[in-house]
Amino acid sequence: MLTKETAYIGIGSNLGDKLNNCRKAIDLTGRMPDTRVTAQSRFYRTEPVGVEGQDWYVNCVISLSSGLSAQDLKEKLLGIEKIMGRERMRKWDSRTIDLDILLYGQKVIKEENLTVPHPLMHLRRFVLEPMVNLAPDLIHPVLGKSMAGLLEDFREQGQDVIPLGEA
Ligand code: ATP
Ligand code: CA
Ligand code: CA
Repeated sequence: MLTKETAYIGIGSNLGDKLNNCRKAIDLTGRMPDTRVTAQSRFYRTEPVGVEGQDWYVNCVISLSSGLSAQDLKEKLLGIEKIMGRERMRKWDSRTIDLDILLYGQKVIKEENLTVPHPLMHLRRFVLEPMVNLAPDLIHPVLGKSMAGLLEDFREQGQDVIPLGEA
């Protein structure tokens, strides 16, 4: 068996019962083989980035302790998206659930269908706010900066990210 890695998973939904979709995905993720959910960020209400006219998202980040390889983890996450009824049409379409591997330990992976760290994570406030909530001092293995430092880098930019319950 592989040794366990700590992986961070970005979760988002902007279709249907968004909060419930995120909760269900967290539950299903914790049922993957040889995997448990070790921590969860707050939930945030976030503005869609990169697309016009879409409904707002609920986003959060969880950490996992998993014996699955990064590839197996990705396949299982795609399976959960499928069970939860995600339909793939155009890129960045509205979706019931999106599960991205943000970080897999300190590993750097560049394969055809898997890039880790997630290549856009440091450019997305909807990822960095929950990452800072969960692990502010965690270092990005490519950029060499903490999550708090990365968020600091684009403090002035837009992208509304509001903790749920405070909106
Ligand atoms: P974005 O990558 O900008 O967040 P998206 O999440 O909407 O976009 P999807 O359509 O969900 O993109 O994913 C497309 C493919 O991306 C997946 O089928 C998967 O093979 C691949 N992929 C590459 N790197 C990752 C990663 N770190 N986590 C999850 N999927 C990844
Ligand atoms: Ca995504
Ligand atoms: Ca995705």
